[in-house]
Amino acid sequence: MPEAALAQLRAQFPALQLKVADTPLVYLDNAATSQKPHCVIDAMVNHWQRHNANVHRASHRLSRFATEAFEEARQTVARFINAPSAAQIVWTRGTTESINLLAYGFTNQLKAGDEVLLTAMEHHANIVPWQLLCERTGAVLNVVPVLGDGRLDMAQFAALLSPRTKVFAVGHASNALGTIHPVQQMVAAAKNVGAITVVDGAQAVAHLTVDVQALDCDFYAFSGHKMFAPSGIGVLYGKAAALAALPPWQGGGEMIEKVSFSGSRFQAPPFRFEAGTPNIEGAIGLAAAIEFINAQPRQQWLAHEQALRQHTYQRLAALPEVTLYGPPADANDVVSLVSITIDGVHGKDMGMLLDQQQVAVRVGHHCAMPLMEQLGINGTLRISFAAYNSLAEADRVVDLIAGFLVDTL
Ligand code: PLP
Repeated sequence: MPEAALAQLRAQFPALQLKVADTPLVYLDNAATSQKPHCVIDAMVNHWQRHNANVHRASHRLSRFATEAFEEARQTVARFINAPSAAQIVWTRGTTESINLLAYGFTNQLKAGDEVLLTAMEHHANIVPWQLLCERTGAVLNVVPVLGDGRLDMAQFAALLSPRTKVFAVGHASNALGTIHPVQQMVAAAKNVGAITVVDGAQAVAHLTVDVQALDCDFYAFSGHKMFAPSGIGVLYGKAAALAALPPWQGGGEMIEKVSFSGSRFQAPPFRFEAGTPNIEGAIGLAAAIEFINAQPRQQWLAHEQALRQHTYQRLAALPEVTLYGPPADANDVVSLVSITIDGVHGKDMGMLLDQQQVAVRVGHHCAMPLMEQLGINGTLRISFAAYNSLAEADRVVDLIAGFLVDTL
C-alpha cells in the first residue's frame, strides 16, 4: 500500500497513535479484536448524544430516530454479506452467541445416532455449543483432521460425510493458523448429504468479501469487534426457511406477537430471536464500520495484508529456533497472521518481553485447544495483522524476537 494511503488509514484510528514512554504501540493482535476508527466511535457518540432511546416501542421522536438507525444498520449488514433480505439478519452479542443460538435451536431436530461434523481447526465457540447439543440429543461429534501443512484433510472430510450428518459447522478462516477453508466446496458436499451448514465467519469478515448466497450456507455467524466495530454486537445470517424452522431461544419483550397466560405467540425472524432491549449503539457502530470498510480499496488492503504476512513469515523462517504453523509463506488460502513456536523459549515469556517493548501479540492456545493437541504443542505466539499495520511494524516484532534469541540462547 502506498505510504501516504497507509498513513491516512492509520490516522483514522486513535489507538494507533498511542505511545508508551515515547515508544509507539505496535498492535498485532487483530485476530483477537481490531482497533476502532473515529467514524465508528463518532457514530456511537452521536447516537447517545442525539438519538438515544429504546427501539421499536415508543411513538416519540427519539425512538423513531433510534429505530430507523437500528433497522438501517440491519440492511447495511445484509448488503455487506449479500444476504437477500434484512429479515435474515439476526442481531446477537457475537459469533459465540450466534452459534449457541443455533445449537440450542437444533435440539429437537437431532436424535441419538445423528452426527455433527466439525473440523479440528475450530475455535471453542464452534466446538463447545455442538458438544452440548450432542450431550442433549445423543448425537455423535465427528471431526475432520488437519494436515501437516495447516490445511484440512479433505479426503477425511469426504469420508466422514454421510446421511447421518445432520449439521456441518466450519470456520471460514482459522484464528490459530489463518487457513481459509474451501467453504463453498465443503458446504456443497455437506448439503448433498442433507446436512444443515453453519459457517463461523469471525476471522473472515474483516479480510474477505463475504457473499452468503454464493457460499450457499444455511447460516453464517460473525462478530463486530473483529471488523472495526464495537464488541457486544454480532450477526447470525440464516436462509429464510432455515431461520423459520428455528424455535425461539430466549423469551422476553420484542420477540413476541402476543403474550397471554394461555400461551404466547412469537414474532417471525429476525425478531423472534431478539428478546429484550438490543445493543442499539452496537448495531449503529457495526453499520458505521461496514460503511468504513466499503469506502476502502479492499483489494489493495488484501494485497497489503498478504505482503505483511509473507514478509513476516519469510523473516521468521530464517530464524532456526522458530517453527511456523499453517500454510506456507506464498499461500493465498490464508488470512494475514503468523503462528509460531520458538525452541527453548516459552511463548508467554516472549509475549511479555514484546509487551515491555510496546508490541502487542497473542500467546496461548487461541481458544483452539483441540488443534494445539493435534499439533502436539501447548500454544503458539500469534502475530495477526490488519490493513492498518505497516511493514515497519512487522519488522519491529521480528527484530525484537531475533534480538531476544541472540540475548537469551
Ligand atoms: N470463531 C472464531 C474463528 C474466532 O476467532 C472467534 C474469536 O476469536 C470466535 C469464533 C468467537 O468470537 P466472539 O468471542 O466474538 O464471540
